[in-house]
Amino acid sequence: MEQSKHLSGMLPEELEALALRLGEKPYRGRQLFEQIHARLAGSLDDVTVLPGAFRKRLADEGFSAHGLSISQVLESTDTTIKMGLSTVDGLVVESVLIPMETGAFTQCMSSQAGCALACEFCMTGTLGWTRNLTAAEIVDQHLLALARFPDRPVKNLVFMGMGEPLLNVDEVVKAIRLLQHEKARSLSPRRITVSTAGIVPGIRRLGQEVDCQLAVSLNAPTQELRAELMPVSRRYPLDELMAALKEFPLLPRRRITFEYVLLPGVNDSPAHARDLVRLLSHIRCKVNLIPFNPFPGSRFGRPSDESVDRFLELLSAKQMMATIRRSRGADILAACGQLAGKKG
Ligand code: SAH
Repeated sequence: MEQSKHLSGMLPEELEALALRLGEKPYRGRQLFEQIHARLAGSLDDVTVLPGAFRKRLADEGFSAHGLSISQVLESTDTTIKMGLSTVDGLVVESVLIPMETGAFTQCMSSQAGCALACEFCMTGTLGWTRNLTAAEIVDQHLLALARFPDRPVKNLVFMGMGEPLLNVDEVVKAIRLLQHEKARSLSPRRITVSTAGIVPGIRRLGQEVDCQLAVSLNAPTQELRAELMPVSRRYPLDELMAALKEFPLLPRRRITFEYVLLPGVNDSPAHARDLVRLLSHIRCKVNLIPFNPFPGSRFGRPSDESVDRFLELLSAKQMMATIRRSRGADILAACGQLAGKKG
């Protein structure tokens, strides 16, 4: 397949094997890996440590360094940056750089072009699903951001952009392995978070296959309400989800994050807060409240600051660790649930 020809998605041992197949010594493959990931080479032409003949051979065989290219960069009035990134088959995926107080970024990563889950409150869901991103296309979101903004370190990666990462476990796990590789970006497992709408088999596989943080988009404390808002909950009901989460391998001092989009009049009453505390009482976790971000055509309103604070208070009063995520970048449709990959 065309997409597997992107070298940024290949592990060092795969590049060694490729070098060997093309008549080079294996260390040439390792060099290629370091040039792409550590030195942020933009194209094969930039990899001048490799013999010209080898680079030409790679190009002749259809290989290229990256699977994405930057097509658009938008900056919000609050300095959040949204990148539109084009695939070789003409799709646009989005990745958002969210500035932290230190000046470094948290990067929001996409895992699929579109999304199949059709959660009612999410704009990506209105697109439908086009295809899974490859490991190269996932890693490239990060590599292209680093190359474009060399003075701004990216400290955290969150798989909270377009798509459902745990319906693309193979490529997401491979991308995480690449990003964590000591000869690549060497990202710490504590600084990579995979967020899921609750794909139970994917949660099991993630826990077995890679070390990273887990976030779960809960959004409702009961199966009935959750199934209304998130069709995926009919396939993986809340009790099965909670059972899988209780078995998730949580290292000491780590917690599972539960995201909870606050939808006024829908899931933000005191009774909902009480049910939420009860549901989560036996799990090492924290709750991240996300005030709903409206998008064109959405049927929910934006909650008032007071109602968000009130919901937080109700959780805190029961010793539930909870924070509010003030989403950023709404003016450029870069906030949670607003990524849709439209060409600007
Ligand atoms: N599919 C994965 C990854 C996407 S994460 C998942 O569902 O976890 C995107 C997060 O933004 C989810 O927690 C989702 O609940 C939240 N979200 C979606 N639409 C939103 C909106 N309009 N306003 C605020 N948060 C939203």
